[in-house]
Amino acid sequence: MSEPIKDLELVNVTKRYGATVAVDAINHHFKPGTYTCLLGPSGCGKSSTLRMIAGHESISDGSILLGAHDISDLPPAKRGTAMMFQNYALFPHLSVTENVAFSLKMKGVDSKTRRAAANEMLELVDLTELSDRLPDQLSGGQQQRVALARALITRPQVLLLDEPLSALDPFLRIRMRAELRKLQQELGISFLHVTHGQDEALALADEIVVMNNAVIEQAGPAREVFNAPKTEFVARFMGGHNVIALPDGHFAIRSDAVGLTTVEAGKLEASVTAVEYQGTHVSVTARTVGDQDVTALMADSLFFEQPKTPGDRVGLSWDPNDLHALAS
Ligand code: ADP
Repeated sequence: MSEPIKDLELVNVTKRYGATVAVDAINHHFKPGTYTCLLGPSGCGKSSTLRMIAGHESISDGSILLGAHDISDLPPAKRGTAMMFQNYALFPHLSVTENVAFSLKMKGVDSKTRRAAANEMLELVDLTELSDRLPDQLSGGQQQRVALARALITRPQVLLLDEPLSALDPFLRIRMRAELRKLQQELGISFLHVTHGQDEALALADEIVVMNNAVIEQAGPAREVFNAPKTEFVARFMGGHNVIALPDGHFAIRSDAVGLTTVEAGKLEASVTAVEYQGTHVSVTARTVGDQDVTALMADSLFFEQPKTPGDRVGLSWDPNDLHALAS
């Protein structure tokens, strides 16, 4: 792409639907050329945020900047963004090529130029051989690639993806994940991908923005958000963590950082309530004397050196450096 990639910035962006505040004065700076996942439970305001950036939804308050330009009031096609929808929204009576070239036709671009641009995009998503087919003659994964090519033909600075993988079966979802990531790196533009799946966000994103109840709970590099959750909500939503109440506050600790030892040597005394074999790991859950459930995820070899069964008394141990204080 010829132009340098610009920063996307949200400034106090708010969305109200009547009395419902769907997005509450959020601020975020999306670095150019990054893959960002907007992650959170259903109803937290992710899609509203994406649709406001795309221009498919009006902004109740605040502004959206791309580069130095306020794009808040521009129509979708003039923003420098493009959206790929969850259901792909392909035209059933148009061929793959015609679907991909559609937006150029709307702009009045001549047919030869349109065809050349569409062919280039189809090559990018590896669909050249299927260019004459109709959408219902394609698999789900192929339809998705058509939708991607159709969004990318407008040469956006930012590609917006609303739950793009949710219609695919688990096997294809993992394959498409890799393709999306590769495409983003090849193009060097920013991808902003809405998902409610923490595994999807961790697999794809450079940066994760976790939303809850219309606000951003935490944003940062994927590894930082996973390793050092700042709130109980983020710790629980990202998974793989325990939230433990200790005399000096609430802490998150990764399940694989909790060890089992003798009652005397442990920091907390507990009795095993559940043991789940997971192949490479074994998950042991124990209830403390203070009635907190704590899960220790152990390598299978370590577990089978000293197997535990429900009812066994154990001590829970950890390295204090692995505790992350949570905001109350
Ligand atoms: P998410 O994408 O995280 O599931 P949404 O942005 O779709 O969340 O929705 C956020 C909140 O706004 C929800 O409470 C939802 O019911 C409400 N909402 C979304 N769209 C509309 C609409 N068109 N009219 C009224 N309320 C809406």
